[in-house]
Amino acid sequence: MNIIDSHIHFSNIESFKKTAVDMSKVDYSFCGYIKEFEANNIVASIAMGVQETKSGSFPDENSLNPMLLDLEKDIPHNIYSCVGINPSRLVGVNKNEELKNIEKYIQTHAVKALKIYAGYYHYHVYDDVYKPVYELAVKYKLPVVIHSGDTYSERGILKYSHPLNVDELAVYNRDIHFVIAHLGDPWVMDCAEVVYKNDNVFADLSGLIVGDRQQVEKTSNQKLFFEHIKRALVYADCYNKFMFGSDWPLVEIGSYVEFIKKLIPLEYHEDVFYNNAKRIFKL
Ligand SMILES: [Zn+2]
Repeated sequence: MNIIDSHIHFSNIESFKKTAVDMSKVDYSFCGYIKEFEANNIVASIAMGVQETKSGSFPDENSLNPMLLDLEKDIPHNIYSCVGINPSRLVGVNKNEELKNIEKYIQTHAVKALKIYAGYYHYHVYDDVYKPVYELAVKYKLPVVIHSGDTYSERGILKYSHPLNVDELAVYNRDIHFVIAHLGDPWVMDCAEVVYKNDNVFADLSGLIVGDRQQVEKTSNQKLFFEHIKRALVYADCYNKFMFGSDWPLVEIGSYVEFIKKLIPLEYHEDVFYNNAKRIFKL
C-alpha cells in the first residue's frame, strides 16, 4: 500500500535534531528521509514549516513569515510544504509586509496548506490576528493545519492548543478545511467530537508516540494507551476524515505505521493512509 505522511518536519530546529539523536534514533537529513520513507512505501509527505532564529529558540517570536522548510538546501521532491505562520509578527509595524510575503510565497511555490502553531504562540485560533491568514486560505483554497494538544515545549500555553477551540473557528469559517494535528492528544475525545460535528474539520494521527521502535512498541502495547486513542476513533466513526501522519523525525516511521494500522479497521486503511490526504491537500 502506498502511503502519504500528512505531518512531518524538515526544518532546522534544535529540539527536533536532539530528539532524532536521543529518542527516535532516526537520521534527520535529506538522505535519512529518502531511505526511511522509501523503505516504508511513503510516496509523499506534507512538511510543516517552522523556523527559529537562534538555536533552541522555537517557538520563536522573531521568525519571519512564512516559516519554511530549511533543514537542508535541497528538499526531497515528494515533500510538499505547509507553510508556518508566526502571529507575533502579524501585529504592529511588520504586519502588512509579512502578510504580503506569505501571499507572495503562496503565489510562487507549490504550497499545500497553512500551519497555525496554537499553544506555541499565545493566541486563540479564532483571534483576529489570524483573520488575514484565513482570508488567504479562502482565496487560495488552502486547508489550515492547527497544532493541537500537548506542546513540545514548556513555553507553550495549553489553553490555546485545546482542540475544542477549533469548533468556533470551524463554525464561522465553513469555507475553510481545518486539520487538527495529533488528534488533539491528550484531548482526543474533544477532538473526535469537533471532527464528528463539523463537516469542514479533519484530523491527523501524528505525534501520538515519540521515540524509537522499542518505545513505539512498548507504548502502543499498553492497553490503556491504545484504548485512549481507539475510543476517539470509534466515537467519531468517520474514517474519511482521519489521516496518517508521523511527526517525523520525532518517531521511527516503520513502527509508527504498524501502530496506526492496528488502530484503523482494515477496510479503511487505504483512506486513512492515502486517499484522505490526497483529497484534503489536493496532491
Ligand atoms: Zn509536528
